[in-house]
Amino acid sequence: MSQDLKDKTLDELERIVVDLGQKKYLAKYIFQFIHVENATEISQITPLSKAFREQLVQQDYTISHLTLTDKQTDSDGTAKYVFTLGDGHRIETVLLLDGKRRTLCVSTQAGCAMDCAFCATARIGFKANLTAGQIVDQVNVVERDALSVERKNDTRNTALPRGRLSADAQRISNIVYMGMGEPLANYNATIKSLAILNHPAGKNIGIRHITVSTCGLVPAIRKLAGEEIRPRLAVSLNAPTDALRSQLMPINARYPIAELMKAIRFYQDRTRQRVTFEYVMIKGLNDSTRHAKMLVKLLDGIQCNVNLIEHNPYPGCEFAGSSRERMTKFASVLESAGIETTVRFRMGRSIKAACGQLGADWLDESTID
Ligand code: SF4
Repeated sequence: MSQDLKDKTLDELERIVVDLGQKKYLAKYIFQFIHVENATEISQITPLSKAFREQLVQQDYTISHLTLTDKQTDSDGTAKYVFTLGDGHRIETVLLLDGKRRTLCVSTQAGCAMDCAFCATARIGFKANLTAGQIVDQVNVVERDALSVERKNDTRNTALPRGRLSADAQRISNIVYMGMGEPLANYNATIKSLAILNHPAGKNIGIRHITVSTCGLVPAIRKLAGEEIRPRLAVSLNAPTDALRSQLMPINARYPIAELMKAIRFYQDRTRQRVTFEYVMIKGLNDSTRHAKMLVKLLDGIQCNVNLIEHNPYPGCEFAGSSRERMTKFASVLESAGIETTVRFRMGRSIKAACGQLGADWLDESTID
């Protein structure tokens, strides 16, 4: 069976190279060419001898790549990329621009098994776990796309080396694991992808610039606290009481709020990092001043910030988003209690790239499946 070199950490590549009778340092070239130079073929890793490249091919090593099947851009600059996997399943990746910050929202699964009531991806159901290589490749492809756009727009016609990005301006600066799927339900691939993206010999994306979002898988949050590489943690909370949260998120029946909060405090004790809480605002359901006050009480003593996200509709969805007035009032209750709060309205909504909308474009087909 073929093995994907993109799916390997540098340590794993070193073992492969040594097992093939070659010098360990050559692994670094493979890693750099895949993750910095965006090489898509073994033949492009030119610092390796021709004989070694042939040996890798003969041993059935490959460099996988996602197939980009669609790209849509919103007037606010948000871009949504649709990829088709080898097994025919599709995933979506969203690029968000904010000044010099280029944030990529990556998927970790095709579909999702968590069944959150406000989320289009949940309606697709779980289809497949992505490999670490497929998670990382979302970054590679989007960066390559930025380069090709840049080349098209470059009227000076300056020849850039093949595959190399012209400037740091095109690089992804931040990654959020908030696309399709529950990252901590695909734990090993998520952890491995963090190691690859964070490595100084590769993309070198600082761990403080990487956020992993979870719906609240308590044992996995505790496990993550013991990892060598610990990203920023975001928790999709959405309700201040168990009754309401269980209505929106079935996972709450397994890991109720009190247990979740204990795990979050544990993570914070170990990492000393601020935690982000995401709170999708649904009209008439979780958006009153009373809910805001309960939330303040719940978050007491946790170093955190709260993202209030207007609920984004998708076909067949029973909920509507809260009004701006309601969201502003909710935010002011949190802020007056000293909780840093951001309010997100409709970013990427016209191309169904907003929170909770991924997969909405093909919902009808998928639910027929
Ligand atoms: S909100 Fe996240 S965890 Fe919940 S169903 Fe959607 S993708 Fe899955």
